[in-house]
Order: sequence, then C-alpha cells, then structure tokens
Amino acid sequence: MDLAQRGTEACGCDLIYDVINQGLCMGCGTCVATCPVRAISMEYGKPNIDRDLCIKCGACYAQCPRSFFNFDVMNQFEAIGEAIDAAMLKGDE
Ligand code: SF4
Ligand code: SF4
Repeated sequence: MDLAQRGTEACGCDLIYDVINQGLCMGCGTCVATCPVRAISMEYGKPNIDRDLCIKCGACYAQCPRSFFNFDVMNQFEAIGEAIDAAMLKGDE
C-alpha cells in the first residue's frame, strides 16, 4: 500500500496491529495526544484504544514515530534494497 495513503486511511486498529502488536511501540504517548476524540489512553505504558470511540481519522497512525517501521514497510525497503543491489551487480558484469 502507498505509504501516504496508509497514513491517512489507517485507524486505531491499524496502530494496534502494525505497531503495538509487533512490539514497535516505545510508549511515547504521541498517539494519545493526537487523537481528536480521546479514544486512546495509556495503560501500563502502552496505548489502549477504545474502538467504539475511534472515528478512523488516521491521525494516531500518521503521527506515530514507529508506524513507518512496520514489517510491511520494512519488507518494501528490503525489496527496494535487493533491487538496487541486483542492478549494481549487473552493472559490474
Ligand atoms: S505514538 Fe506510536 S510509539 Fe508512541 S505510544 Fe503511540 S503507538 Fe506507541
Ligand atoms: S479517532 Fe483517529 S486518532 Fe483516535 S484512535 Fe481513531 S484513528 Fe486514531
């Protein structure tokens, strides 16, 4: 998925799946401060999202400093890196 699109279409559930459940959350609280409807609260140092309150604005995902390190994105970067390596090796032949 296009990264800019991901940042604007993601919801609190995506933050849970892509960041928190993958162990990427560092407990900075940015998502809590960003949420316009106060759907996120910190519990035991990690965000807890009330899905009934979430209006799926994507603000928490867009502002989270760790959301762009999720595995899907890292795989994309790895694929790009591999393509560059392959192209450079081909250039040496
Ligand atoms: S903004 Fe991201 S890293 Fe910070 S507390 Fe929220 S989910 Fe964790
Ligand atoms: S309302 Fe917006 S900022 Fe709050 S949890 Fe939902 S998507 Fe995130």
